[in-house]
Amino acid sequence: MVRATIIGSGPNGLAAAVALARAGYEVRVLEAADTIGGGVRSLESTLPGFLHDVCSAVHPAALASPFFQAFGLGERIDWIVPDISYAHPLDGGRAGVAWRDIEKTAAGLGADGKAWLALLRPLSRHIEGVVDFTGNQMLRVPRDPVIAARFALRMLDQGTPLAKRAFRTEEAAGLISGVLAHAPARMPSLAASAAGLLLAAQGHAGGWMYPRGGAQRIADALVADVDAHGGSVETGHHVTDLGDLNWGDPDSGDLLMLNTSPRLLLTHPDIPNRYARAIQRYRYGAAAAKVDFALDGPVPWTNADVAQAPTVHVGGTRAEVAASENAVARGRVSERPYVLTVQPSVFDPSRAPEGKAVLWAYIHVPANSDLDPTELVARQVERFAPGFRDRVLAHHAVPASSREAINPAEIGGDILGGAFTLPQAIRRPVLSTAPWRTPMRGVYLASASTPPGPGVNGMAGWHAARTALRDAGERVTLDELFDPPSAAAL
Ligand SMILES: Cc1cc2nc3c(=O)[nH]c(=O)nc-3n(C[C@H](O)[C@H](O)[C@H](O)COP(=O)(O)OP(=O)(O)OC[C@H]3O[C@@H](n4cnc5c(N)ncnc54)[C@H](O)[C@@H]3O)c2cc1C
Repeated sequence: MVRATIIGSGPNGLAAAVALARAGYEVRVLEAADTIGGGVRSLESTLPGFLHDVCSAVHPAALASPFFQAFGLGERIDWIVPDISYAHPLDGGRAGVAWRDIEKTAAGLGADGKAWLALLRPLSRHIEGVVDFTGNQMLRVPRDPVIAARFALRMLDQGTPLAKRAFRTEEAAGLISGVLAHAPARMPSLAASAAGLLLAAQGHAGGWMYPRGGAQRIADALVADVDAHGGSVETGHHVTDLGDLNWGDPDSGDLLMLNTSPRLLLTHPDIPNRYARAIQRYRYGAAAAKVDFALDGPVPWTNADVAQAPTVHVGGTRAEVAASENAVARGRVSERPYVLTVQPSVFDPSRAPEGKAVLWAYIHVPANSDLDPTELVARQVERFAPGFRDRVLAHHAVPASSREAINPAEIGGDILGGAFTLPQAIRRPVLSTAPWRTPMRGVYLASASTPPGPGVNGMAGWHAARTALRDAGERVTLDELFDPPSAAAL
């Protein structure tokens, strides 16, 4: 039996493992951490009974992913699809609210309702075309060129100083800036605008869903399928040198897949100089400093709609959000930072003991920063939810400088697998129509450092596995992988 060794058990590593195990490979996944899942893990890191997502918390890209659709992720776990995708509190109890229903959102934005519809309705109505355009490495013709052009125009509109003219109210301007600031990048910038518009469109298409029971459920569903097809996952196995790893013989068809930073490729004894230089040129970006809170009750947001929104962007006006992101781009942290928060326990009582709650939060910081974000985050949340501090029972903070110890793929605390810039959307990590393939025989890269980039969608894992299968002379479609015709039917 041919062997496939996969280094890393993040969603892309496990997606590759599922595909290769189903394609008949003997799959072995080696994971550095003591727990499985990489970016889809949940742990009781504060107090017993309080379940916190270690990395990703909300998964708008998961159910839109062709790989996860074919895998049946929607049916394999219980998803919570909230009516409110995200909310953005402002001083004085005001808020911008992005309902899944775009008409309701527009109605709540008053004078800016029409502008909101004009910006996002065409994108959310044609979300498959948007996902296809933003998810390809931009080296092929988009499947829906009309929607690609519409997306590109809006990206220019929101990613340049023109953006200031788009909305008149603080509610709409704050609401869009909160979603555009997800990827750490200068604001306005085309990269931030592309990532944010995709998320905003998903907010009105499928919604910003998350798994009941925590992000870990995604890893568990994938591992169950790997197990069912004869594969295995070994934790506590940190690979530091590919030269020392016995992964098999490429002449016999054995494969090695890296669900890691591309830097690990530099330890391969046969790496060609040119490719090594390209990998060294690949840049890592700003980082995240995260804090999880165990709370004595829900966050006491002043605005009632915000209290019902699992995802809350805390950062005040558009100008404040932009100032926070631009400070990070200059190597500093704003005194009033933009904070991404998620309160999953609003609709998922399994996350905390009865009557209690959890809050997940992070801010963008310069790479390798050792700043503990707890005080800055608490101050910002308190601004829109007076009394928050009194509800904190415990917290667990992870500065950017500690992230590599949790996940060696997060270089300097970069949670996106490489700096989020337009050039690196195309050159990820090298300029190629198949960047998942490396020049070393049998060796592939299956991580967020390859297209379609960050986010929990498993697509980089599937692209890497499909490329490897094609190189081995096998052309397998997703339909065939998940619904093979029975032997009797052949
Ligand atoms: C704090 C945070 C919040 C996020 N929020 C969201 C969100 O809400 N929604 C969303 O869609 N995305 C979010 N993301 C991004 C998302 O988690 C990642 O884009 C996604 O997990 C990338 O998947 P991956 O499989 O490529 O890599 P990862 O999930 O990073 O997994 C890589 C795995 O490989 C292992 N590994 C790395 N190097 C080695 C080695 N040398 N030896 C052995 N094992 C190794 C790691 O331990 C890890 O388990 C967030 C990320 C973080 C960190």
